[in-house]
Amino acid sequence: MHHKIKGIIIRENAQGESSKLLTVLTELDGVILVKAKGARNISATNLKNVQLFACSNMLLYLKNESYTLVDAELIEDFYAVRENIESLALASYLCEVAGSVSVRGSDNSAVLQLLLNSLYALSRGMATLKHIKAVFEVRLASILGFEPEINNCDACEKTLDSVKNRVLDPENGVFMCEECSDELIESGEVDKKGIFSVSQSIFDAFKYIFGAKSNKIFSFSLGEKDLDELNTLSEIYLHLRLDRKYKTLDFLKTLM
Ligand SMILES: [Zn+2]
Repeated sequence: MHHKIKGIIIRENAQGESSKLLTVLTELDGVILVKAKGARNISATNLKNVQLFACSNMLLYLKNESYTLVDAELIEDFYAVRENIESLALASYLCEVAGSVSVRGSDNSAVLQLLLNSLYALSRGMATLKHIKAVFEVRLASILGFEPEINNCDACEKTLDSVKNRVLDPENGVFMCEECSDELIESGEVDKKGIFSVSQSIFDAFKYIFGAKSNKIFSFSLGEKDLDELNTLSEIYLHLRLDRKYKTLDFLKTLM
């Protein structure tokens, strides 16, 4: 039986003498494994379509629950992300995370779109690596349903835009005004170590990333120090929710 899918290759492994086993993040069917026969032959006609990070419309043949690639029409190869080790490491991390949150048999189009937009920005040098990583992590948390209330303090419900200082409690997934967080720390209800103060510009960045159209998510600027902080917060926030280890993140951190 033949299937047409849109997907991106998020991992590739050699198989036998000349074939590859591709891990493909699809728009509508989660992550699937696809055998690409002869894909490692230099003369393979579809060489570009069967490389890591290539996004294509694929024609697959399904037999005994295993997919074989019949044909692929390339949409984008994101080839430029391989040009240096840092962007390659970030692309690998984005792919590993996107693959890990995609559910078999369900609509993953928002996750796929975020991954494609991030790889596009990375391959075109539209933003720094830290900027792309932070935006990806914040937006992914939102897509997965973990977007915190950002308009009002979680405790006293004051408008967060009107308070002098505000904090993020990543563990509980809430923003608060500093007064409330000080009270909770004093009473021992929250641990001070888990509370991060959030400057106005970082707060604005969070709001922007949650609310922006998917093709505009990177279109804001932050100073280097703020970007470092946003990166720390986005990583802690997302990974508290995903609750698993990513090898690609460990490697990326040795480079960033
Ligand atoms: Zn409050």
